[in-house]
This record gives sequence, C-alpha cells and structure tokens, in this order.
Amino acid sequence: MPELRKDPIIGRWVIIAAERGKRPTDFKGQFAGPSGKFCPFCAGHEDKTPPEIMSYREPGTERNKPGWRLRVVPNKFPALQIEGNLDKRGVGIYDRMNGVGAHEVIIETPEHHLNITELPAAHIEEVLWAYRDRLTDLKRDRRFTFAMVFKNVGVVAGASLEHTHSQIIVLPTVPRTVRDEMRGGRSFYDFRGRCIFCDMIEQELECGDRVVLDGEGFVAFEPYAARFPFETWILPKRHASHFETIERRSVAELAYCLRTTLQKLEKALSNPAYNYMVHSTPFDVGPIDHYHWHIEIIPRLTKVAGFEWGTGFYINPVPPERAAEFLRQTQVG
Ligand SMILES: [Zn+2]
Ligand SMILES: [Zn+2]
Ligand SMILES: [Zn+2]
Repeated sequence: MPELRKDPIIGRWVIIAAERGKRPTDFKGQFAGPSGKFCPFCAGHEDKTPPEIMSYREPGTERNKPGWRLRVVPNKFPALQIEGNLDKRGVGIYDRMNGVGAHEVIIETPEHHLNITELPAAHIEEVLWAYRDRLTDLKRDRRFTFAMVFKNVGVVAGASLEHTHSQIIVLPTVPRTVRDEMRGGRSFYDFRGRCIFCDMIEQELECGDRVVLDGEGFVAFEPYAARFPFETWILPKRHASHFETIERRSVAELAYCLRTTLQKLEKALSNPAYNYMVHSTPFDVGPIDHYHWHIEIIPRLTKVAGFEWGTGFYINPVPPERAAEFLRQTQVG
C-alpha cells in the first residue's frame, strides 16, 4: 500500500510508493567515464580559468601556477555578477533587483581522473575547509545574505566539466527552500522549545531504520519523507546553525562521514549522477537554536515529471527504510 508521508520541517507531503518487484539496485545511475576533452581545471592549465581567489599549495609555488592541491576561481560563466549594487525596486506589482552575487568554483584536486570519493580523507578535509574559508570571507560583504555550497556530479546532475569540483553561489536574498525550512524550524521551536533537526537525529538514532552511518560527530540518514530514492542527509550531531563555524577536528569527522556515504551510494547504485547541497543559516542571522545546518545528497535516479511540477508532490519509488538498509549493507573502503 503506498503511503503519504509529511516532512515535519516544511510540511511537504511525499508519496512513498514502492514499485512492486523492483529492487533498490534497479535504480541505477549513468555517470559516464572521462571524455578526453580539454580540461581547464587540470594542473598546467591555470591560465585557462579566471585568476585564483584562493589556493592551498606547496610552499614556494606561485599563484596561478602548478603546485596547488586545491584552487578556488571565479566561475567563467557566472550566474550572478560580483560588481554593482542591488537596486531593489518594484515594477507595478512585480519586484526586481540586480543579479549581484558571487559564483565561485572549488577545484578539488589537480588530478583529472579522480572522483571526490577517491581522494584521501585528509584531502576531502581540505575541500570542506575551503568551503569554510570561502564562506567566512564572503560573509564580510554586507550585500550578501546567503551562500549555497553545492556539487554536481555527472551530466544528468548538471555538471558541465567532469574534473571534480564544487561551487558556491552567494545570493543577496535567502532562497525559498531554506526560508521554508527555517520557518518550519521556528514554529517547531516556538511550540516545543527544541530544534527539530536535533529531535530528528535523536529519533532516527533511536529507531535506526533509516540510518546509513552513525559516525563520530555526524550522522547520515534517509529522511522519513524522502522525495527521491536514496536521498540522504548528513547532519552534525551537536547543534550548529552555521556551517562556517565548524572546527578543524569536526571537519575530519565530516570528511569521513561524507566520503563513506558517497562511496556507499556509488557502489550500491553503480556510480550515479548526484548533487549535494549544504543548507546553512543566512549570513545576516546570528547563531540560532531553531535551524541546524546539514548536507542533502540527491542521487539523480528518477525524473521529475508533470505531476511533481504541477503539485509539488514527489513520488518516491524506494521507501527510505529499504534504501537505508541497502546502504548499510554496502561495504566500502
Ligand atoms: Zn581536468
Ligand atoms: Zn539542532
Ligand atoms: Zn535542507
């Protein structure tokens, strides 16, 4: 019997309808191998990207030259422009503002042929630390209120270059998804006096059915009202509203949790295309008790079609309990 489940944070209903006779492995990915095309992110091609904003590199090596382990550059085709003011105004019943923001690319390694999951844990730590460094810096620009850190892997997931990279888009406004989550967190907090994400972690760990990985400082689980097959969230066990306040020690724990979770997804689903997104509290809000930063991982196994577009309802053909069980059983590294 299909089941309707409500996401407790934003109140979105999801249809969980296990497709009869299908096993979790029937939802396989389509991540293509290397194309052999020229790559501007490879070592030695530093002059093919805009000049670097930041890099982690070997001592004695020059900016925009080889010798780096990780590089951050402006996106060559940015969604938003860094220069200018917002010029917010109304046009009759409509509202508009200038497309001011930042769009940066984090090139995670000089090696072309490595996936993020093939990088040593210590290197993934550096990737996460780079997120933190960039957010801390971008936060100083008072025009910006929100930063979205995300990663697209595979063409289906929107990656235009195969060389492993993440992106940061900084916005002058808080996006709807995060606003809705914050509003949900706020009303739960007003009612219960606790963080809904902290409560969720406690309940998930106690129940265990949807847990993928119970790590040192982090937990990975399939949300109760998962929109997509194998949708997986990673949260710090200890409450924190802003990703950029993370400490170095926690970054090591997060690197392990993220790497293992992604490795499990890759192995279980034969290298699916996927996206992950970091949801964190806006820059202009201080530390708060009702919103808890987290990473959402969405493997791209199904297509969003007319019903979803028209209703905002998602139909998930793999119950999250089954997906979690399958991922727990998938041995990696
Ligand atoms: Zn490359
Ligand atoms: Zn919390
Ligand atoms: Zn979220």
